[in-house]
Amino acid sequence: MLATLCGSLPAPRRAQHVRLRGPDRSETIDDGIALWFPAPRSVTGEDVAELQVHGSRAVLAAAVEALRHMGLRLAEPGEFTRRAFFNGKLDLVQAEAIADLVQAETEAQRRQALRQLDGALGAVYRGWSARLLRALAHLEAVIDFPDEDLPPALDAEVAAEAVALATEIAAHLADNRRGERLRDGIAIAIVGPPNAGKSSLLNALAQREAAITSPVAGTTRDVIEVAVDLGGYPVILADTAGLRESADAIEQEGLRRALARAEDAALRLYVFDARHPEDVAGAAAWPGRDTLFVANKIDLAPRVALPRAALRISALTGEGLRELIVALVQRIAADYDAASALITRARHRAALEEALTALRRAACATLPELRAEDLRLAWRGLGRITGSVDVEDLLDVIFADFCIGK
Ligand code: GDP
Repeated sequence: MLATLCGSLPAPRRAQHVRLRGPDRSETIDDGIALWFPAPRSVTGEDVAELQVHGSRAVLAAAVEALRHMGLRLAEPGEFTRRAFFNGKLDLVQAEAIADLVQAETEAQRRQALRQLDGALGAVYRGWSARLLRALAHLEAVIDFPDEDLPPALDAEVAAEAVALATEIAAHLADNRRGERLRDGIAIAIVGPPNAGKSSLLNALAQREAAITSPVAGTTRDVIEVAVDLGGYPVILADTAGLRESADAIEQEGLRRALARAEDAALRLYVFDARHPEDVAGAAAWPGRDTLFVANKIDLAPRVALPRAALRISALTGEGLRELIVALVQRIAADYDAASALITRARHRAALEEALTALRRAACATLPELRAEDLRLAWRGLGRITGSVDVEDLLDVIFADFCIGK
């Protein structure tokens, strides 16, 4: 087919300058480049041809028409990646990384997707699967050959391995959802008393210092969110309604949502009016290192004494904003520049939790048969993440995220 189109078959994996002609070879379609990747050394593991043509509508239409004429069709979204998965070129975690890479909006998201595509995450899960299989094999031996001369401690060793695996998986799960947050955006809630300048700060951060990637609408009494790229990290800034007592039902709802948002956020900026340093006491509602103190309106009180940790800014004049951003980016980098592979999707988390539950049951099972059953369940849970066990039911959901041509 490629030979018909190009006049001859290019040498494998070498770009060749060609004149593309239609199936009857009478009409020239374009002057371009053809590449030929015979199976299995191709992106999908099948025979793949790549044509580089001038991208005009007319050229594309003529080329696609000629290909259709030869019985070809357009690929469905994600079809290349799906085929690569079926042919063992990628595991499911890597396939998902391709979708993430295509959708990455910030540097940190791009880096995380690339790490995942490199296979580090899949390797962790495959390592655990392999250990589970080994433990299962030992246990099967205990079950099948009770009278043989097997080391008597074998069953106890398998139980200990189940505990060890459960501990590792639990540690992997206890990552504060950093990978998922990096993928979806790290939520930073702006909280503080009314009129401290929370909305002004959100606007100042969004407009001056960062590119808005997608504004999320809300009402002033509710929570307003803006997605920004802060030093390469995807951040969702949430301005919460002023925290105050109120009899007004709508405001109470706003307050409730503000509190819930602030609770969920990865970080909080507690903004108060520099003229009222005593307001900083309100931050006590969020103890811990995830809250940064921000004294705003410093232009009105330049010499005021503030709690030592407070950053001094003026949302109005822009003073201190750069320092605030540096502090935020440093804090985020410390938490999110993980050397280790992080869980990036709820799907992986659910499967890991399933495996963990099964492993904990396996660890305290009273009979080898019951222990084996739970180990098998744990192994299946892990296998569903990388796609090494039957995942037919998952594929449509996973590949629905893809765009055409990937
Ligand atoms: P919020 O209720 O905390 O969201 O506060 P707003 O952002 O609506 O600000 C309350 C008032 O303070 C507005 O009139 C702002 O113009 C003013 N304001 C906000 N930031 C500053 C600042 O840094 N300096 C001065 N002088 N006024 C500010």
